[in-house]
Amino acid sequence: HARRIEGIDKNTWVEFSQLAADYKAVNLGQGFPDFSPPHFIQEAFCKALNGGFSKHQYTRAFGHPNLVKILAKFFGRIVGREIDPMEDILVSVGAYQALFCTFQALIDEGDEVIIVEPFFDCYQPMVMMASGTAIYVPLKPVCCGPVLSSADWVLSPEELASKFSPRTKAIVINTPNNPLGKVYQQEELQMIADLCIKHDVICISDEVYEWLTYDGTKHVKIASLPGMWEHTVTIGSAGKTFSATGWKVGWAMGPGHILKHLKTVHQNSVYHCATAAQEAVAVGFQREYDVFGSEESYFHQLPIHLHEKRLRLADCLKSVGLKPVLPQGGYFMIADISNLNVDLTDPSTKDEPYDYRFVKWLIKEKGLATIPVSAFYSPEHKDQFQKYIRFCFVKVLVNKNNNWSLDISLP
Ligand code: PMP
Ligand code: GLN
Repeated sequence: HARRIEGIDKNTWVEFSQLAADYKAVNLGQGFPDFSPPHFIQEAFCKALNGGFSKHQYTRAFGHPNLVKILAKFFGRIVGREIDPMEDILVSVGAYQALFCTFQALIDEGDEVIIVEPFFDCYQPMVMMASGTAIYVPLKPVCCGPVLSSADWVLSPEELASKFSPRTKAIVINTPNNPLGKVYQQEELQMIADLCIKHDVICISDEVYEWLTYDGTKHVKIASLPGMWEHTVTIGSAGKTFSATGWKVGWAMGPGHILKHLKTVHQNSVYHCATAAQEAVAVGFQREYDVFGSEESYFHQLPIHLHEKRLRLADCLKSVGLKPVLPQGGYFMIADISNLNVDLTDPSTKDEPYDYRFVKWLIKEKGLATIPVSAFYSPEHKDQFQKYIRFCFVKVLVNKNNNWSLDISLP
């Protein structure tokens, strides 16, 4: 095999989704909804499929025209500038491929990429496959009040500044963050932006959960800060935006002179994405454009719906002695398991980090699947973060008794 794939053959999602299936566990692990996308977008998909031959055939390589046009119009209004649909946007197979194209297009051997920990796990192998060097900087919990919150996890400005070097090519941020749920505040983004501008570094901003914020927290796009459009590639996902993760429509957005390099990777690998799904997502964004800011908007309704699930999960976790960190945004909640003292005697997991062993025990013995949080840390720092597990609260039932809440009360 090629050296570029050395050591990245194991994958968290493959491993834990399989385990959850094998043990028929309640799956609060992998993040996806257990409800359907809104009707307007399902109808749009059916209409696209039934509307003649063209939606069954290839479309424009860098994004179906209807989709790039409405993405440009929609996000142009949000970032407060004109976005060129043909130059500044690339539609991809989910946010995953947008990220992959970004790293492949921009990172060379010897380039450094700063990654904020904890991070969505694919950033590290993607940097590695592009021959770059990942440099990590942690979000750390500062002293906190009676309710633990993702807002307590912050970057040290001095530590972050110290990671920039003449070799730094990019920094990857994720807001709202997976797994923590941290939503970066304007001042934190400004601090990152100042460093990007000072060192002429690109910010790769993964914003797939951009509509999911709670308790009045606002999502801010770093690309909208002064001078940052030119320095940012913003990554989005229709899967997360419209609760249709299986459609795998995503995008990268940024200045045309950067995006053109992502297009080079795309045209020589995937070429273009499924036409009907792109047409349906275009209809969805047009609808959201028309009702934006009103109570009818799905982007308004979805976080309200998930907020209930979030509170329900937090209550369940507290009732069994876990300490949840309340997320400001996203799909996930992490919880401290260190006071549970479970006797993990399964010999098959004895060399694994504590949180991996705990999660496997929970799946096998209690029928509940979650994800170990050390999976979101670099190989170098994994062993310092073994006391949290991640729950996906999108799949929590609000009005019914979740039988798993009783099941995990044993220790
Ligand atoms: N980034 C983050 C932070 C994610 O959680 C995910 C998973 N949804 C992705 C990117 C990939 O998204 P997609 O399913 O659109 O490829
Ligand atoms: N982003 C989702 C999660 O964090 C799914 C990841 C995946 O399936 N690869 O759970």
